[in-house]
Amino acid sequence: MDPTQQVRRIVIAGGGTAGWMAAAALARSLGKTHDIKLVESDEIGTVGVGEATIPSLVNFHRLLGIDEREFMAATSATFKLGISFESWRERGMDYIHSFGMTGTDHWTAGFQHFWMKGRERGLASDYGDYCLEHLAARENRFGHLKDDSLGYAYHLDASAYARYLRRFAEHFGAQRIEAKIATVDKHADGSGVAALVLDSGTRIEGDLFIDCTGFRSLLLGGAMGIEYEDWSEWLFNDGAFAVQTNSVGPAVPYTRSIAHDWGWQWGIPLQHRVGNGVVFASRYVDPDAARAALLANIEGEALTEPRLIRFTPGQRKRLWAGNVVGLGLASGFLEPIESTSIHLIQRGIVRLLQTFPSAGIAQSDVDEYNAQAAEDIATIRDFIILHYKVTDRRDTPYWQDAATMEVPASLRHRIELFRETGRVFRQQNELFAENSWIQVMLGQGILPQRHHPSADLMGDAELRGFLDGIRERVRRTAALMPAHGEYVRRWAPAKA
Ligand code: FAD
Repeated sequence: MDPTQQVRRIVIAGGGTAGWMAAAALARSLGKTHDIKLVESDEIGTVGVGEATIPSLVNFHRLLGIDEREFMAATSATFKLGISFESWRERGMDYIHSFGMTGTDHWTAGFQHFWMKGRERGLASDYGDYCLEHLAARENRFGHLKDDSLGYAYHLDASAYARYLRRFAEHFGAQRIEAKIATVDKHADGSGVAALVLDSGTRIEGDLFIDCTGFRSLLLGGAMGIEYEDWSEWLFNDGAFAVQTNSVGPAVPYTRSIAHDWGWQWGIPLQHRVGNGVVFASRYVDPDAARAALLANIEGEALTEPRLIRFTPGQRKRLWAGNVVGLGLASGFLEPIESTSIHLIQRGIVRLLQTFPSAGIAQSDVDEYNAQAAEDIATIRDFIILHYKVTDRRDTPYWQDAATMEVPASLRHRIELFRETGRVFRQQNELFAENSWIQVMLGQGILPQRHHPSADLMGDAELRGFLDGIRERVRRTAALMPAHGEYVRRWAPAKA
């Protein structure tokens, strides 16, 4: 492969969420100057899950110029203010990881220190009472704020989302080819991919290939032979059953995550139906038992047969190799707990556009891309492991093993730092900000031993005034928000 070869022909292999997000963003930014083709096979289909998102998707849509109401109506979407973790710390004990800011930080110390001091003196209520998104979620309310400061994401119908993005991408010049990829041809020197060979024998040549072929990873794992790093020593889950049900009540503005003895169950409310599933560790439960537990715990009538999806938690060692960039499941998969997979697709696309190799693929760009991606994923991996490691549950072998496992040194340090001092520091460019770590660490059962001295400087009256002022503002703003279901019906009713 010639490193000075200009990149004009982009070929995207696969048309799931990853393929169409890539096609939409690339066509929107490069559609006038580059040739963009996407190959997908209806017969093979998509993974069909991945319906809960995080707030970064709102920004992605803004960058692309996607209209929120149009997108939500097309994908039957609802709003998501966070995730409700049920029975994760202990059976029957719930908490919410919301997308908002809690309280107001001081420049020397985060709000949690003032809250802890308030708690010690009997002046503070639940941590979530000081966060608008948290309270609104608890009360099933939603409303956009005038200053646009509400932290929210969406629940969406994954198949409808791919169709919506397809129309968008085609409008900006992307071309779709419906076919099965039979083989992948490499350049004679083995350094990159030359063409996709379709089952009709047609060759689709390109300068840059984006592998969005899902777990098959035909280009990155297959043709380029990039190894998979297996993280199942920390992330035990390796299978899931997904099933759709009809809605039995108004859609709540949060994803439900309910812990089981050997995994957990999700509930993702859309306008027209609910997406449900169990994620399980086959070392601890027979898949048939996991399937039965799912069916016994769903509300509403099952609209589909439960579908089994197998995975190995982990990541390919490099996400860009030669002229192949892997996105989505083709690049790896941790597990669905914090809905980070679609976010990682989006990060990969934005990073690719920032390092776009129009004048030829420079190894320094490839190395930078891979280093940034590895850092991104490692911090997300630690955040996900945290949910399993820090728990009071010891009632089944799964939870006992999770609580006693050795975790990466980076995570061990963060847990110890919070336990001993109440401090959390966000790493550069890290996805989850301090308040996410704090909510999950408190929610999973860590109460720090100390707080920052800044909190001691406030007398009782001042501290009470400070805490009550925030709680009252949150309460008043939430009270003005309508019921979530009613707001969605007015804002972007689903197009049948
Ligand atoms: P796929 O959807 O599998 O698409 C692969 C594409 O490649 C398809 O179009 C297929 O036809 C095509 N293809 C494959 N082989 C060939 C071939 N030979 N020829 C032609 N075409 C081919 N993410 C989130 O962000 N939030 C969530 O809530 C969430 N929940 C999840 C739950 C589970 C159980 C799992 C497994 C994943 C979840 N994810 C979630 C991840 C999310 O589903 C994926 O990141 C997302 O759907 C992108 O998938 P994809 O496009 O990479 O792969």
